[in-house]
Amino acid sequence: MPQDVVTMDKIVALCKRRGFIFPSSEIYGGLGSTYDYGHYGVLLKTNVKNAWWQAMLSREDIVALDSAILQHPRVWEASGHVGGFSDPMVDCRTCKGRFRADHVADLQCPQKPSKCPGEGPDCDLTEARAFNLMFQTHVGPVQDTASVAYLRPETAQGIFINFKNVLQFSRKKPPFGIAQVGKSFRNEITPGNFIFRTREFEQMEMEFFVPPAEAEQWYQHWIEERRTWYTDLGIRPDHLEIRAHAADELSHYSSGTSDVEYLFPIGWSELEGIANRGNFDLTQHAEFSGEKLEYFDQASGERYVPHVIEPAAGADRATLAFLVDSYDEEEVDGETRTVLRLHPRLAPVKVAILPLVRKEGQPELAREIHDLLRFAMQTEYDEGGSIGKRYRRQDEIGTPWCVTVDHQSIEDRTVTVRDRDSLTQERIAIDDLPALFGGRLAAPWTTPKLAA
Ligand code: ATP
Repeated sequence: MPQDVVTMDKIVALCKRRGFIFPSSEIYGGLGSTYDYGHYGVLLKTNVKNAWWQAMLSREDIVALDSAILQHPRVWEASGHVGGFSDPMVDCRTCKGRFRADHVADLQCPQKPSKCPGEGPDCDLTEARAFNLMFQTHVGPVQDTASVAYLRPETAQGIFINFKNVLQFSRKKPPFGIAQVGKSFRNEITPGNFIFRTREFEQMEMEFFVPPAEAEQWYQHWIEERRTWYTDLGIRPDHLEIRAHAADELSHYSSGTSDVEYLFPIGWSELEGIANRGNFDLTQHAEFSGEKLEYFDQASGERYVPHVIEPAAGADRATLAFLVDSYDEEEVDGETRTVLRLHPRLAPVKVAILPLVRKEGQPELAREIHDLLRFAMQTEYDEGGSIGKRYRRQDEIGTPWCVTVDHQSIEDRTVTVRDRDSLTQERIAIDDLPALFGGRLAAPWTTPKLAA
């Protein structure tokens, strides 16, 4: 595998320099591990989320949902978040297990020979510490225990509690899925590595409800679907791997979990988890709410609690992976060119329109081309500075094509189209531009970094 030039520091610097992502509250000295997205960051992350939505909603068996961030506190009791996340916990530095401090005597360390946490020869427990991953707030003006609410730590529970609603209106039957994108909040003990782990982040989660006998087959299906989603959007396949969790790593509810991992500059790390959650969630919410959460098949007379396959991805983490994977540097005419070789569908700006000089009618013609394209795709008009500097700027934000208007354009209504990756320039009639770019945006794409 060729050595990548990318480092996390270079990504952070480029994001700041080009207006993708800024440290939040910077003028007040910042607030640990929170970030604000600037113009190009918003465009890029929106494209990532749209590509996810498209992958989900182009299927006939998935519907969309947008549930509230604030939910009834019982939701988090049913899901296990309140019990599991609010009590004093100890971590084991060896096996990475986390145990309720007051339950250690009743628990088993995952390592052999089976002993209580802390009693094995290699156990290395931390001090007990209060550990509540959820941000707590109060609903209404009175701050007492009855008004406690939490900012959701995952979007998934909003889907489970709407299972019945969706079943009623959507006319779907298992196998079918409910997809949601939205903010989640976790008071992470060790946030860091830029937007890889933050306390406020966006998730893209889909819960796929299936007849119990089909769970394994759909689990495998979604692992493959999700891997392909990343590679179709340009991630190099040799930088992506599927890692199945070992039995002792699985959450209590899961009968199988696989992570999609990406080779970040910090090493192989989770991009997304795909879990076979069994019927845990619906059963829990049925018990805690008293509502029946099951499916009744009128044709067969069969009644069952569907099992759930969950692909759970992070929009910020995926955005970081696309930035890292596309970052490149090369020598051009004795100078280092920095370029984001983003998939054109993800690129914040698709086409930049640049008059060579600010006279001779060139700005006017460039504006006309801008108007021709701007409602079909994200475009940018830029007339300031030398043409070389303007190309560099577009390279750094990952714009796949630059349209340059020159004196010949005024005579014959043709322009040059510069390709970000190959640096070739072709002369094209202005009238042909919408079809040209439309076609290129729809075409399959592979990163030129693969050939390097
Ligand atoms: P990790 O082990 O990295 O903490 P997790 O296994 O707790 O992640 P899940 O609960 O499975 O994560 O959440 C699904 C996805 O949400 C993750 O794969 C990741 O992309 C994203 N995610 C989770 N926590 C964070 C965070 N603190 N900051 C950014 N993204 C996150």
